[in-house]
Amino acid sequence: MNGASRSSSRRRSEITATLLRSVRRVPLDGEPADPVDVLLAGGRVSAVGVDLDPGGAVVEDADGRWIAPGLWDEHTHFEQWAQTALRVDTAGTSDPAEACRRVADHIATLDGPVDSLVVGFGHRMSSWSREPVTAELDAVSGTHPVVLMAGDAHSGWLNAAAQRLYGVSFDSACTEGDWFALMPRVADDPLALADARLCRIREMFALGVVGLVDMVMDDHLGPWQALAAAGVALPRVQIGVFPSTLDEVIEAGLRTGDEVPDGAGLLRMGSLKIIADGSLSSLTAGVRDAHGEVHGHFAYSLDELTSLQVRAREHGLTVATHAIGDACLSQVLDAYEASGATGTVEHAQLVDRTEIPRIVRLGLPLSVQPWHLVDDWRAMDALWAGRGDDAFPLRSLLDAGVTLRLGSDAPVAPLDPWRAMAAAVHRNTPDVASWHPEERITAAEAFRASVRTRVAVGQPADVILLDANPLDAQPDSATTARQLMGTNVSATYVAGTRRY
Ligand SMILES: [Zn+2]
Repeated sequence: MNGASRSSSRRRSEITATLLRSVRRVPLDGEPADPVDVLLAGGRVSAVGVDLDPGGAVVEDADGRWIAPGLWDEHTHFEQWAQTALRVDTAGTSDPAEACRRVADHIATLDGPVDSLVVGFGHRMSSWSREPVTAELDAVSGTHPVVLMAGDAHSGWLNAAAQRLYGVSFDSACTEGDWFALMPRVADDPLALADARLCRIREMFALGVVGLVDMVMDDHLGPWQALAAAGVALPRVQIGVFPSTLDEVIEAGLRTGDEVPDGAGLLRMGSLKIIADGSLSSLTAGVRDAHGEVHGHFAYSLDELTSLQVRAREHGLTVATHAIGDACLSQVLDAYEASGATGTVEHAQLVDRTEIPRIVRLGLPLSVQPWHLVDDWRAMDALWAGRGDDAFPLRSLLDAGVTLRLGSDAPVAPLDPWRAMAAAVHRNTPDVASWHPEERITAAEAFRASVRTRVAVGQPADVILLDANPLDAQPDSATTARQLMGTNVSATYVAGTRRY
């Protein structure tokens, strides 16, 4: 009771009405480009029109800048994204020796205690020419425990000192279940981490992000409630829960869409997240090969998957089920069909085209992370030979009527919706030829898949101001992608309050 009244009075004091004078709407649905005024009041867009009377509102002259709904990142791991700000970057290394060199360079710069934990992040096991060996990491790490986390978060490589610290023993990297049990125990310095969280939130607002779907792994509300209690200005967050803490959520009576107590009105309960297969780069995605044989790591049997989904449904929770490979996607669709649960399929990197009608029939949005394509296309060519046509088939999915939601899967890719949109539009970085260009989508389609609202009366006052129209027609997809990534955000409003 107290919590609720405290947070609503804080909300009231923050909200002032703002009249954005002379903005042009980014034509997501073909809106005319003539300048209009937009009034934000009571947390909503309360009027859109020409020469609006400001009444008591603060007037901001937007000078013909472009207005759009604020961006959402539909799949993040925020706490891990904050942690990566503190880590040795192992992304782009081609073998374990190169990762070791980066660790050695980093350790050479340290002047704190000789046994402080060193954490690295970012490499792809599938890009390494061979398996790592514990002893080679020991050779560069002195007395520091060292943990190197793969960029897809599906494996970790620990030196002997770190293995002693956590009471585990591996000669090489540890993967999947072993790693998921270990990963939450790898703890950073609390003060440094608190700083990193604030930094990451500021970065988000600077990119025009107003909302996140956060997949929280251990503590079911993650850092969010504490950040709200500390008075930190937050984006909207839809907080997911993993099976390990599902009981806590059920006990707390939280259903999908419910406002989380003491969440400043911005935190809401999300979905149950179920990881049903592995990942491409750890070679554990559930994939069917050219001979129809199935490979990969399936975390659940169909019955187990179905009963987890049923349990979520019975308690008012939607389900976000992770399926990277096509064989896993089929299993996941079977489970949704049997359980009657609603929600999303996460990732869907490889899609058997014969399944597309079933995705449409079940009404399951696909939550996809196009930047993974930029990171993974070489690996997909190598590992899924001849199946490239079916990897991230965004054009075909949209044409068939599937709803797409774009995200980053940060920290697997940077939390940056502009990159995700650019990758969906060009299917590569702008300086490289498009990979399977027949599956490109337009900038407007990518933008619509990155927002949840519209700049229209009655909608939440989550809006951004842009210096240029990111949907301006360009001669080719590379230029369009460049334009998206170069878009400058000049203001971000969440629930009518300016956050950037
Ligand atoms: Zn994820």
